[in-house]
Amino acid sequence: MQTIVDVLLCPDCGSQVLHTVSYNGFRAASTSIGPPRVPCPSCSVPVSTGLKEWDEHHFLEKVRFVLSRLFWLMVGSVVVAGAGAMVLKLFALEFVWIDERDGDPFFWVCFSIGAVIITAMVLRNSLREVNESRSRISPS
Ligand SMILES: [Zn+2]
Repeated sequence: MQTIVDVLLCPDCGSQVLHTVSYNGFRAASTSIGPPRVPCPSCSVPVSTGLKEWDEHHFLEKVRFVLSRLFWLMVGSVVVAGAGAMVLKLFALEFVWIDERDGDPFFWVCFSIGAVIITAMVLRNSLREVNESRSRISPS
């Protein structure tokens, strides 16, 4: 896995303003939402981030944001909940909490619970991101 750290430097004094971590081209915190300019921590010159607040995104960019969240949600639920449920099932069989013919129903129950938890977490984070973005634009 190739890890790349993009560092945003202040054009004025060269201090690090913020950094983004990517894995194989995927940004770890896959988001395009954020303040378009942040003040440099040392000289407070405003530096462009390439990000935009939610309300400044075009409709298609909002759609892309939602689709990319849904994509990660799908990957996350299948991989994480699937692996978790598989491990739980092996444990449950190993310690004879369940017998062999309950294995598959047990797997699907664990998988569904895991997928629901992941869905709730991703939705909560995405909504919080949009809400924080909106309150940055119009502080109430
Ligand atoms: Zn600076």
